[in-house]
Order: sequence, then structure tokens, then C-alpha cells
Amino acid sequence: MKKITLVEVGPRDGFQNVEEYIPREIKMIIIDGLIEAGVRRLQLTSFVSPKAVPQMKDAHELVRATIAEHADQDLELFALVPNLYGAKAAADAGLREVSTVISVSERHNLANVKQTVAQSLQGLAAIRRELPELAVTLDLATTFSCPFAGETPIEDVLSLMKAGSELGIRRFSLCDTIGTATPGQVRDTVKAVRAEFPEVLLDIHIHDTRNMGTACTLAAVESGITNVQAALGGLGGCPFAPGASGNVATEDVVYMLERMGYETCIDFARLLAVSKYQKTVVQGNYSGHQVNIGEDCAG
Ligand code: ZN
Repeated sequence: MKKITLVEVGPRDGFQNVEEYIPREIKMIIIDGLIEAGVRRLQLTSFVSPKAVPQMKDAHELVRATIAEHADQDLELFALVPNLYGAKAAADAGLREVSTVISVSERHNLANVKQTVAQSLQGLAAIRRELPELAVTLDLATTFSCPFAGETPIEDVLSLMKAGSELGIRRFSLCDTIGTATPGQVRDTVKAVRAEFPEVLLDIHIHDTRNMGTACTLAAVESGITNVQAALGGLGGCPFAPGASGNVATEDVVYMLERMGYETCIDFARLLAVSKYQKTVVQGNYSGHQVNIGEDCAG
């Protein structure tokens, strides 16, 4: 049986698109529920300016409280950081791991963080230099396509990974930022990336705009990726890609993989219960799967 690590990103990628502030207590009930359902790797929040993303103003307290509450459990908790300042804040809150984003597409990077890719790489170098103990995953936004430049050439993905590798990055997320990848494209990209960088850890991060989230995720898994990112309920969107959907829903991915003989170590019934709870307390953009049926369909 092949083991897949489910990487829950809803508390960051999902919540960041919810306009109304979700009280920290509610966020923590959802995070605790995910952990109780068996999730071991979680992106908790992002350390960004509270002016830019007011939803994340509680990042420090949320991280500290989650670490304290689950100190006896073997969890991999991390947060998104946009720069060195954010990385320091994350480390200060007690995290030993962060992720940071650079877009493969120059135009998307400029729109997203108002920096060229080269400038973003300098920022990454600063994080590595100042915080050498902090594990950093590099999220490669627009790995498959860019809302401005169209389909992303695989060579561009490889060259950004090369630059990241030279800064000591050993883990990368292949991100379908606007959710327009196809399973064939995912297969081709993963194959090329694994051939060029056989030693790096890879995550797949798919948005579900065209309802191909599970198909693209499966294509990545069948191409050898074992770390699958997803968001509870498919909650989300993208502030720089109007109309884009949230991530593929965690429960859809878990259902598919478990039924196909992969081992996720997630309790599906408990996961659905947390998803139902989230939908009652967090108003947002959810992808269209059902939480009301299938409780006893997957183990
Ligand atoms: Zn995303």
C-alpha cells in the first residue's frame, strides 16, 4: 500500500480568501478537528501584514496556541511567509518550517508581490542566510499556467527550481495557482521535474477551477508525488485571479486515494464532520462536492 501525506492548507489558502474575520477560537476548532481526523502536516496561517490580509492578524497567537496544545503529537506545522520579516515572525512564534512563494511566471510574480523573480530570489537568499535553521519550502506559483502569460513552459519551472536548489531549498510545491492545469500537463511537468531533480521533496498544490482538481492530483500521485496539498471543503480562491476556485477539497482527495488503495491515515468520517462544521461557521467560496453523503463509504 502506498503512503500519501495529506498536507492541509485550508487554514491558510482557504481562510485568506474569507473576508469576514474568523475568530481564532473557531479556526482552532477546525485545526484541532483536522488533527483529530489524522492530518499530520498543516499550513496553519501566513505571517503577512495585517493591513494586507486582516484575516491573518492572529497568526502569532494561533501558531503559539496550536503548538502548545499539540506539543505531545508528531506534527509538521508550517506557515506561509512573504519575506524575511515574515520568516522571523514565524520563527519567533515557534515554527521550525515555513513556505514562501515565487511565481514561475515573471508577470504573475510582479502582480502578486510587486517584485521580479530575481528580486524574490534575493529575498529567499536573505531568509536562508539569516535563518539557516528554518526549513523552507519554495512554492512555485503558476507552475502550469499564468493568468497573464498563458501556459508555463516546463523549462521555466526547472530554471526556478535550479535557482532555489542553489539556495539550499530541498522541498518545492508545484502550484496550479489558477486551477487550469490538465492531468496530462501535470504528468508531463512532474515527470520532467523528477528527472531533473530526483532528490528533492515535491508537493502538488492544485486549485479546482475546472473541476479537474482530483484528476490533476491523481496524475501527480501516479507520477510519483507523495505529498498532496488540499483545503478542507475546497474553500478558497485567488485574490489575483478573479474567478479562480479554491484548492481541491481535502475530503475529495482522501476519498479518492483511500478508495484506490493509497494510505492517507485520515479518518474520513471525522474529516467530513469537520468540513460540515466549517461550512456552518465560515461563509466562503466552497467547491461543489457533497458532505452529506458517503460517510461510511471510505475507511
Ligand atoms: Zn493555492
